Amino acid sequence: MQRTETVIIGGGVVGASVAYHLTERGAKDVLILEREAVQGRGSTGAATGGVRSQFETEINIKLSLYSLDFFNNWEYDCEYDPAGYLFFAATDAQLEYLKQSSARQRELGVRDVEIIDADDIKRIVPFLNCDDIAGGSFGKHDGFINPLAVMNGFTDAALRNGAEIQFETQAVAINTKKEKIVSVETNKGVIECENVVLCTGAWAKQLAATVDIDLPVSPQRRQIVWARAAEPLPTGLPMVIDIGTGFHFRPAKDWNSGIPARTNARHSSFSNNENYEIIFAFPDPDEPSSTNTAFDDSFIDKVYQRAKLRAPYLYETELVREKCRAGLYENSPDHHAILGGCDVKGLYFANGFSGHGVMHSPATGRALSEIILDGKASFLDVSCLSIERFSTGKLLHETAFI
Ligand SMILES: Cc1cc2nc3c(=O)[nH]c(=O)nc-3n(C[C@H](O)[C@H](O)[C@H](O)COP(=O)(O)OP(=O)(O)OC[C@H]3O[C@@H](n4cnc5c(N)ncnc54)[C@H](O)[C@@H]3O)c2cc1C
Repeated sequence: MQRTETVIIGGGVVGASVAYHLTERGAKDVLILEREAVQGRGSTGAATGGVRSQFETEINIKLSLYSLDFFNNWEYDCEYDPAGYLFFAATDAQLEYLKQSSARQRELGVRDVEIIDADDIKRIVPFLNCDDIAGGSFGKHDGFINPLAVMNGFTDAALRNGAEIQFETQAVAINTKKEKIVSVETNKGVIECENVVLCTGAWAKQLAATVDIDLPVSPQRRQIVWARAAEPLPTGLPMVIDIGTGFHFRPAKDWNSGIPARTNARHSSFSNNENYEIIFAFPDPDEPSSTNTAFDDSFIDKVYQRAKLRAPYLYETELVREKCRAGLYENSPDHHAILGGCDVKGLYFANGFSGHGVMHSPATGRALSEIILDGKASFLDVSCLSIERFSTGKLLHETAFI
């Protein structure tokens, strides 16, 4: 029978980061199980790679600060591009919210986040209809990374450090004895182990249920429309978000056009077409919880109608249908990650990122490695993210999720 100390189930960006951080600390017997033939076919391959410190809660701001710093200083090139994030407000109440959030961000150490007025916004996004805009907040160090590059960087380093990855291996159950992890059952046999880290993204709930844990993570489809403008995009266009509706757009980066093909997701291609191509989307309130990842053409018109109101320039872009994509968010009830251990000794969660798993992957990997090896995370207190909060009612509150 196969045996290892730690099994990480799921080889997306989060599983890869946990493996990297564990092996950097000297952990040797680390095995990643991935049900697909390659990495990147889960949410990581659909993500657009936004990174930002502009959050509402202290814990999200701190996870971002740590992670942005990591991306910026990583010897591996994850294509961090600090193009900025611009949130705009169409009401005074929304602007007040942005003011309060940016004050908290600055207090916690976020540099160069500022409140700007409609004229500033018009300068940054010349094609935006700013008639009703009260102001906004701009974070200069927010921006973009390449999700697949981050995943590959973590994986390659983890493998160099001695970790292993097993493809086409689907975990079907986690086995315990006296409330303690003993093994993982897979389609290829049983693997004895002491620790299991659940990194199965939007599919985490089913495996947790095999040890009678109700992990509150629900999958939800998110769709992205990809289009090409007749004229080049304004230079330095950041991510632009309507804080009221969640409608957002940003220059497209062609590093993983759509969910990775059945060939090999480990090769990303960054073409030079980002000056003309743009992606836009909004969180559709009518989208039910499901694992459906098929792109639905009816979403296109919904997005273009929103674009028409806010930016005729976007409305006039030409759809690039083959690059439109859909993937899954892994929502938790309070839109915060679920990190750390539980009542079952040796079982750890790294789930529920609610659309922020790529940007928070460095902090997540470090937190999990410290929790597993030392009993708690000391670089940052992440105890408020433990699964316990759902039974004690100590939920967090984040409005700035899109
Ligand atoms: C359209 C879209 C845009 C997004 N944009 C951003 C963004 O701008 N910034 C950001 O930070 N995040 C973004 N996200 C969210 C981000 O993609 C996720 O939070 C992140 O990828 C989660 O990583 P993960 O490794 O936990 O999950 P995944 O990447 O889904 O990896 C989980 C892996 O587990 C494997 N697996 C599942 N079940 C099993 C099993 N039983 N046995 C073995 N393997 C299994 C899957 O095959 C998969 O490879 C976006 C998501 C979508 C859909």
